[in-house]
Amino acid sequence: MTPRDVVVVGGGPAGTASAILLRQQGHDVVLLDEARFPRDKVCGEGVSPEAWRLLSALGASEAVRGLDPWPLRGMELTSPSGISFAGRYRGAAEAGFAVRRQLLDAALLEVARRAGVEIREAVRVTDLELRDGRVSGVSCEGGNGVETVSARLVVGADGRRSVVARRLGLLREHRSLRKFAVRGYWEGVEGLQQQGEMHVGGGGYCGVAPLAATRANVAFVLDRERMTEAAGDIENFYRRSLAAWPALAERLENATLLEAPRAIGPLALEARRVSAPGALLVGDSAGFYDPFTGEGVTLALRSAELALPVAHAALRSGRLDDLSAYDRARHAATRDKFRLNRLLQRTVAWPALADAVAGRLRRRADLADRLVGIAGDFVPARTAFDLRFAWDLLRA
Ligand SMILES: Cc1cc2nc3c(=O)[nH]c(=O)nc-3n(C[C@H](O)[C@H](O)[C@H](O)COP(=O)(O)OP(=O)(O)OC[C@H]3O[C@@H](n4cnc5c(N)ncnc54)[C@H](O)[C@@H]3O)c2cc1C
Repeated sequence: MTPRDVVVVGGGPAGTASAILLRQQGHDVVLLDEARFPRDKVCGEGVSPEAWRLLSALGASEAVRGLDPWPLRGMELTSPSGISFAGRYRGAAEAGFAVRRQLLDAALLEVARRAGVEIREAVRVTDLELRDGRVSGVSCEGGNGVETVSARLVVGADGRRSVVARRLGLLREHRSLRKFAVRGYWEGVEGLQQQGEMHVGGGGYCGVAPLAATRANVAFVLDRERMTEAAGDIENFYRRSLAAWPALAERLENATLLEAPRAIGPLALEARRVSAPGALLVGDSAGFYDPFTGEGVTLALRSAELALPVAHAALRSGRLDDLSAYDRARHAATRDKFRLNRLLQRTVAWPALADAVAGRLRRRADLADRLVGIAGDFVPARTAFDLRFAWDLLRA
């Protein structure tokens, strides 16, 4: 059989974005996903303002607006001893938004289908095909039984448990950051505004993303050892754990948990490289650090944007053996944000420091806006490392 130009494994934001962008360049693209859409995805569901630029390049912004997403105009953070500060997405072209991933991902998949991508749901990729040391397709199983799909380029967009990245020996669990998350949906939540919330404390943190005036996604992240306390009863564990963030727990007292909470972990995974001969990794399959700054969806879309010129040039020239230009582009685009994420992890893990930083940011709204703008992906992350920023924070 003639090989396809591109097979994309995974139909989350990274996969649909890659498929649409490559299709827009005239390539023949097939996308395989093991799920049937709409499918659930455990996520904080707050999407940063920068996502709109990327969605519009995909021709998907109207479809997303049609989902009636809740606008997020900034973030409020509460420290372990209850000091709160809010940062605005000042200077962003548009507000960020929160929407259920079940709806968002299904809408993006539909945009890909309309763009001419062949979508095959309920097809699970089980292995990679290799020829002369280069990835030449995938083995999969689904409606047609077990089959091989040959392709000149394989894009691994199959998330944190990526088969593509693992078969290439590129993805492994993070050595020190061992966390898990539990997410629940609530109706009747008091005090929701047009902003995301992050409550630090209890050895972790809990994020709140409003999905409507009184409905919210409430998801927390804790060290993996704590998971043993669940003893198989996730709902009870989830409800009990929320007591670690008392100001939030109070606002949930009269609210209703809408469905059984879902847990996932380990969260942090690192990829040694994000390309191999004949293959590229995008989105979480290229590594995932921690959801604290909530940039996963935007980064998934952005990684597809960064992969595009490399993939397009390689497909045109037929030289698919060396795609390392994508490694370099991704590293350059993400290194400062990842550095900041590591710094924030250390701050969050040290309650006295988290309190001190929160107190200072409460007094300096401009610095809080800058930090929240960086989290929102429209302010360059390197500005957090300016000496001036550190100096202003120390003097605040
Ligand atoms: C607790 C938590 C909170 C988060 N909060 C936020 C937040 O608030 N904001 C934010 O932007 N990001 C957040 N993130 C990160 C965000 O969820 C991810 O970064 C994002 O989903 C990555 O998209 P993706 O397309 O790479 O992968 P996914 O969305 O995971 O999609 C992968 C797809 O691949 C398919 N697949 C997997 N294996 C196979 C296979 N073998 N064969 C075929 N198909 C396969 C799956 O069915 C799935 O559809 C959070 C993550 C966690 C864990």
